[in-house]
Amino acid sequence: MGNQVNLEEIYGQNVFTLAKMKERLPKNVYKEVVEVLENGGDLSRESADVVANAMKNWAIENGATHYTHWFQPLTGITAEKHDSFVTNAGADGKMLTSFSGKELIKGEPDASSFPSGGLRATFEARGYTAWDITSPAFLKESGAGVTLCIPTAFCSYTGEALDKKTPLLRSMEAINKQALRIVRLFGNTKATKVNVSVGPEQEYFLVDWDKSMKRPDLIFTGRTLFGAPAPKGQEMEDHYFGVIRERVGEYMKDLNEELWKLGVPDKTQHNEVAPGQHELAPIYETANIAVDHNQIIMETMKRVAEHHNMRCLLHEKPFAGVNGSGKHDNWSLCTDDGVNLLDPGDTPNKNVQFLFVLSCILKAVDRHADLLRQSASDVGNDHRLGADEAPPAIISVFLGEQLDDVVKQLIETGEAKKSKKGGRLKTGVSTLQEFEKDATDRNRTSPFAFTGNKFEFRMVGSSDSMASPNTTLNTIVAEAFCEAADELEKADNFDMAVHDMIKANLTEHERIIFNGDGYSDAWVEEAERRGLPNIKSTIEAAETLTTKKSIDLFEKFGVFTQTELEAREEVIYETYAKTINIEALTMIDMASKQIIPAVAKYSGSLARDINEIKQAGADASVEQEILVEISKELKAMKKALDQLIKDEKKAGSIAECKKRAFFYKDTVVPTMAKLRAPADKLEMLVDKKEWPFPTYADLLFEG
Ligand code: ADP
Ligand code: MG
Repeated sequence: MGNQVNLEEIYGQNVFTLAKMKERLPKNVYKEVVEVLENGGDLSRESADVVANAMKNWAIENGATHYTHWFQPLTGITAEKHDSFVTNAGADGKMLTSFSGKELIKGEPDASSFPSGGLRATFEARGYTAWDITSPAFLKESGAGVTLCIPTAFCSYTGEALDKKTPLLRSMEAINKQALRIVRLFGNTKATKVNVSVGPEQEYFLVDWDKSMKRPDLIFTGRTLFGAPAPKGQEMEDHYFGVIRERVGEYMKDLNEELWKLGVPDKTQHNEVAPGQHELAPIYETANIAVDHNQIIMETMKRVAEHHNMRCLLHEKPFAGVNGSGKHDNWSLCTDDGVNLLDPGDTPNKNVQFLFVLSCILKAVDRHADLLRQSASDVGNDHRLGADEAPPAIISVFLGEQLDDVVKQLIETGEAKKSKKGGRLKTGVSTLQEFEKDATDRNRTSPFAFTGNKFEFRMVGSSDSMASPNTTLNTIVAEAFCEAADELEKADNFDMAVHDMIKANLTEHERIIFNGDGYSDAWVEEAERRGLPNIKSTIEAAETLTTKKSIDLFEKFGVFTQTELEAREEVIYETYAKTINIEALTMIDMASKQIIPAVAKYSGSLARDINEIKQAGADASVEQEILVEISKELKAMKKALDQLIKDEKKAGSIAECKKRAFFYKDTVVPTMAKLRAPADKLEMLVDKKEWPFPTYADLLFEG
């Protein structure tokens, strides 16, 4: 085989790793970098200059011409503004390059057009990017050549966060501080840090590029706004874990190579439930690096797809009637001396520290279910959450049989005497090797599931940044730890106090535990009886950011100020309104310029056929029936189209952002559905040759 890869050789090739720094930096500077990496603080100006120069030389040796401060504005994706390394030509006409410590540490991309929710009025529009030394710089190869990307945070002149990374870093510091208090109380004197580990599983669709270019909806909105279901959907479940098609296999091979070069520890890949849908999961990493890497994964997925003449769709619901895409946020806490605080061991009933941590997490999730749900919301995800293919919009926690049993014992008697065991897996075939089963089976319908040694938050949308869900999770758990530590540090009898606290937390927050079928209607009713919030949409969820409870929480742990929260709420309304506006305009465009003319043309030719058939003395009643049906649907379509045009005008006249967003949700979105329904029926009535763009079958099965 000619095109094999040497994994060890290419892994991290495009990353300015610590190993590369060690090779290229003077010993004292390298030591200073490691010190800052481990304990925070600032690099001295002189050292920053040395690091910047080494970084530049490495980048140029590898073909880079430009550098960029790579940041994550509130659009949910990443942004970059490229500057070249060129300074000026020397007297001899030779090009000189430079890159100073100052340029490494601080950038000022004007970037005032990014959403800021009013944090940046134009007269005070300064925005700075600041180097995140904990996330390594990397080289991006693209059509624009090779660019040195420096991961940064993005803040306003007055220090308010304008991005998704700053609050994430703040929340990691908050949980580190509180979790350290907890491990100290349990007698660990060695650990100096508690890290958040995050492993995101990313789902995506691939469709043929040329076909996608014939659909304005895919081009402008990343999802189909019209489309009748294909004759075959996902009912045979033959795509899930199915053999990967050759074209997709080649794509995955390239994608893996690109990601490995960028130091992304991408590990598993398989086909997903829906036709054309796939999944990729990297190995977990420290939260901010995992979040950066997830952004790199999404960008690289799109870029590599183009090389294979395909389009990668990251939208949460690209096709009606088949599963949408999500992103599972696997989350745990590990001390720097190697203890995973979420590892129950073989006998969780005896693992007091684990039970304590678990009880704090249950308390946090129950108390802030609204914020957690908010953190996983975006416009596209409104199509998924609560529709039987993704977790419901109601937050609950799945513990599994073993832990559920331990929790019940604790609540009932204050003591857990035993842990259920998994037992041996027996297949009834003597030649298959027997092995120890997990103590708990899986539950795929739970939004927040315990899976062995981590929680899996499954609500996050496929196109969304992982920053918000992890920021929220870190902060709400930090709060529960903080409250516990405040009490336990004062306790005379620690063992007794912990014991009582576990029981109290579990008893008080038992309502958040649900091990049943999250897709059932019975659960929706049951959840309501339990008083669990069921927040239906992104913009309803946005309001939870600025409740007193939320402001108190985020301000206490220095993650968001009230002003920042208000700004974020505003950005959500803005983004929602803009997104639906684009979708509605695209529908209007496709309906009036493509679908209606095609249907009119077809009905004209059908009418002529009918006359000819009649003249020939034959029976044209079937053709006539079809024609009547077509004109009925066409009429319905025209009516809905006129309504949508009116609604759009009205929406545009609403000045206040929140009101406008709600008008889009309550009025424009239902009219869009009214326009789609007859159009999808017409697709089934009109000659396929006349249909103006590729259908679901074309996109999902013949891509
Ligand atoms: P599952 O089968 O439960 O989905 P996998 O082993 O496939 O679990 O892992 C899914 C994701 O969870 C991967 O990204 C993996 O690296 C990550 N993961 C595994 N252990 C942890 C952990 N302790 N903390 C955070 N993420 C983890
Ligand atoms: Mg999983």
